[in-house]
Amino acid sequence: MSRIRSKNTKPELLVRRYLYANGFRYRVNVATLPGKPDIVLKKYHTVIFIHGCFWHGHDCLKGKTPQTNPLFWQNKFKRNKERDLEVRNQLKDLGWNTLVIWECQLKPKTRQKTLEEISYWLNEAYLDTFRTKRPEYSISEEGSTVLAAEKNSIYSSSTDTDE
Ligand SMILES: [Zn+2]
Repeated sequence: MSRIRSKNTKPELLVRRYLYANGFRYRVNVATLPGKPDIVLKKYHTVIFIHGCFWHGHDCLKGKTPQTNPLFWQNKFKRNKERDLEVRNQLKDLGWNTLVIWECQLKPKTRQKTLEEISYWLNEAYLDTFRTKRPEYSISEEGSTVLAAEKNSIYSSSTDTDE
């Protein structure tokens, strides 16, 4: 697995710097997890892979199959993709969310948007950990929704028209 991914690549550092600056804490290259994820955010039950578009067969310009030996490359990319999927499933079974960031998404033009999306995604994942961690509330899920609605109405004066 490590043969196609070098440590501390620039795109990886970009993501790590952003996460750190925004208060997310993580571990890197955790060898004990399937696929040795680039970034592991335990609190968010999330691992992040930063994938090179070429090796992992992204559907973008950089992920194009080389003109020479196309069959060789197609098979190679296919295997890499299959392994990515397998790793993802293994992580899922262990209770981890997997977030894949493609290198092309970290190009200067799209970088900020991508990083903000990661942050948004992590916060969503964090909320999910509360939802799934408390099975005792799963039966009264409707009840907790009502509670949330009541809470909202305290702060907004225009929603007093329920009746
Ligand atoms: Zn790409």
